[in-house]
Amino acid sequence: MSLVTNLICVRCGAPYSAGQAMICPDCGPNRGILDIEYDIHRAGMTLTRESLRARTRSHWRYRELLPLDDAFCPTDGHIGWTPLVDAPRLAQALGIARLRLKDDGRNASGSFKDRASSVGVAHALQTGATEVACASTGNAASSLAHCAAAAGLPCNIFVSQIVPEGKLAQLLAYGARVFKIIGTYEQAYDLCNQACAHFGWYNRNAAINPYLVEGKKTGGLEIAEQCADDPPDWVVCSVGDGCSIAGVWKGVRQMREIGITHWTPRMLGVQAEGVAPLTSLWQALAEHHPTVEHPTVEHLPAQLDFQTCGDTYADSINVPIPRNARKALLAILESQGAMINTSDDEIREAVRQTGRLTGIFAEPAAATAVAGIAAARREGVIDAHGDVVAFITGNGLKDIAGALSAVGRPHEIRPEMDQVRSIVESEPEA
Ligand SMILES: *Cc1c(COP(=O)(O)O)cnc(C)c1O
Ligand SMILES: [Zn+2]
Repeated sequence: MSLVTNLICVRCGAPYSAGQAMICPDCGPNRGILDIEYDIHRAGMTLTRESLRARTRSHWRYRELLPLDDAFCPTDGHIGWTPLVDAPRLAQALGIARLRLKDDGRNASGSFKDRASSVGVAHALQTGATEVACASTGNAASSLAHCAAAAGLPCNIFVSQIVPEGKLAQLLAYGARVFKIIGTYEQAYDLCNQACAHFGWYNRNAAINPYLVEGKKTGGLEIAEQCADDPPDWVVCSVGDGCSIAGVWKGVRQMREIGITHWTPRMLGVQAEGVAPLTSLWQALAEHHPTVEHPTVEHLPAQLDFQTCGDTYADSINVPIPRNARKALLAILESQGAMINTSDDEIREAVRQTGRLTGIFAEPAAATAVAGIAAARREGVIDAHGDVVAFITGNGLKDIAGALSAVGRPHEIRPEMDQVRSIVESEPEA
């Protein structure tokens, strides 16, 4: 048995039991997102620092805090437990005291989304589903296709036209049935939901499926464990739909609730300035309550409205209508954190810097977290003493065109030593 007690609507607070609902019927599919609650006391009885020492080096090590029955929770795997990489040279370039990068580009399909998709596929099997589906700008789809292929489940994917070729190649290589929609991401998303309802496919779409955030939560559980006695001040995530930052926050919070740690960080959410509906909402909240130093849940309006007009080349966070706005904003509010924007040029600079100064190749949406640290430093949100953990949410190989637009070109020469010498002399630092 899982230790799930209830599913609570994040908007109206109504409780549902497991299996009763995937969304709150009173609040509707766009607003009535559920949040899974656990018997934290029982979880803490067996999930301890001591018991963790002997467990699998994957995200399945946290089974007490996953919404899966024992028979469907794998005991072993190759997703999660990604390294936390010290990045002193990048920290110096950004003007902060310390930076550690959580390198989630090393997951099985190359992104943070593997955490969610693996829990989704395990939950699909638990519910008896025989096919899975999702709509995605890329990584959610490629990770679902990977996890479905690994489990032997057929997989249906709805992508929009902006999917980068690396991610598309992954989908096809993993054998998914891919629908590339001639239309917007919104239309792909709606069509996927209709198809799931019609064919009975398990719907991986992260915001309306509360089980997915539980997978993303493992990113926060791992940060808490890896930094247990050496906590950061800030944890930085790039933000699209908002599920990732919400999950990470829930993870670090639960590790404190069960007593494995005694701290929580402030959460910094980063968006690209062209598509930044959550930063806008966050700023509006602060302007609405200028005398409140730290707004709380009570300050969130019942109706959230989004405005964006621009664009960004960071496809994974190009989300004009975020599906999990409320959970994301709650993470920022509860942690006394902040939202910040960065430009596409700054994201390109962050791709370059991260590669050169740490050896980690980040896709644009992943480098956005690093660009956000620079912006937060400039705006005085993080100071020079800042001790920061940033999630690198996707591998740079997923979007080669995006990377090449940031990192420059090779020296094209004839096979002659003279040519090599003249370039080395003009550019001694390489
Ligand atoms: C999905 C994704 C994000 C953002 O996660 P949300 O849950 O949509 O906020 C950030 N970076 C990468 C690489 C992603 O794939
Ligand atoms: Zn509700």
